[in-house]
Amino acid sequence: MAGAAVSISTAARSLLHRGYTHRPPAAASSLRSIISRPPALRAPVSSLHSGTKSGASASRGRGEVEGSEIIFLGTGTSEGIPRVSCLTNPSKTCPVCTKAAEAGNKNRRRNTSILIRHVTASGTSNILVDAGKFFYHSALQWFPIFGLRRIDAVLITHSHADAIGGFDDLRDWTNNVQPHIPIYVAQRDFEVMQKTHYYLVDTSVVLPGAAVSELQFNIIKEEPFTVHNLKVTPLPVWHGEGYRSLGFRFGDVCYISDASEIPDETYELMYNCDLLVLDAIRPDRSSSTHFGLPRALAEVRKIKPRRTLFTGMMHLMDHDKVNEDLLKLKEIEGLDVQLSYDGLCVPVRL
Ligand SMILES: [Zn+2]
Ligand SMILES: [Zn+2]
Repeated sequence: MAGAAVSISTAARSLLHRGYTHRPPAAASSLRSIISRPPALRAPVSSLHSGTKSGASASRGRGEVEGSEIIFLGTGTSEGIPRVSCLTNPSKTCPVCTKAAEAGNKNRRRNTSILIRHVTASGTSNILVDAGKFFYHSALQWFPIFGLRRIDAVLITHSHADAIGGFDDLRDWTNNVQPHIPIYVAQRDFEVMQKTHYYLVDTSVVLPGAAVSELQFNIIKEEPFTVHNLKVTPLPVWHGEGYRSLGFRFGDVCYISDASEIPDETYELMYNCDLLVLDAIRPDRSSSTHFGLPRALAEVRKIKPRRTLFTGMMHLMDHDKVNEDLLKLKEIEGLDVQLSYDGLCVPVRL
């Protein structure tokens, strides 16, 4: 249960808890310099903008255990940002991918995934939501920076490659950190994994001595379940016509990374949401499988969370430009909405 996660130093953590935390300044330099720095020197931090900083600070101190947070391991579409095809295009017409090619740029996005760092009096659990195609690269960059070691559980939203494509890489944990990892997955997605990851579902087919990921599969239904003392409520959504995906609610945080429609009964599960993380793939319109920004904003107005961070952005979403526009909505109609980015860490009440 209690993961033996390495803690960030007290000093660094107190900074992290001031509010939204940008990726540490070191992230702007080379990866080698980031991962070689000890945690105490990786102090973040400035607020995303002053409104959310004070809001995040104000949300604490109501009896919750201090220290829980969510870390965005990936905030982009399946193919990743930058797209290779944009960088190799002789006319170089994509400004977002050009910027994203620079290390540390907030337009650089990997597959959507968060890590819930659940801190209780009896210990800390690291609960991962999705491990897609780029999971190894996300973990390589962010686990050392945030002092993460164990993975105490993985929740799966759905069985597309950008949500489950990294499960083979969990072998590094089960070979070198811990004996196994519990996986929480809907029956329909488990059945997909019996085909795509047959050797992880049934390890008897693996040759003796081959060290594959040791995973314990737990089938979840569309009803609340508990993971290491954290109550998790599935938020069923449509991700394209007739295709079900799950969001998850934990505490007053609702996380929906892949959605084109929210059924009526799911809105009821999102009542009194403090932080909403919601799919918003492009600035102009929705696709058949994802909310675009206009629809995502309409959902925010309906769900009425205290603040919202969008995720799953494609290369048409320029981080700074879109956030500047979104900031105006705070003045106009009081909406606290921003784009998330890889490496963002947000303190949460769980
Ligand atoms: Zn591009
Ligand atoms: Zn998907």
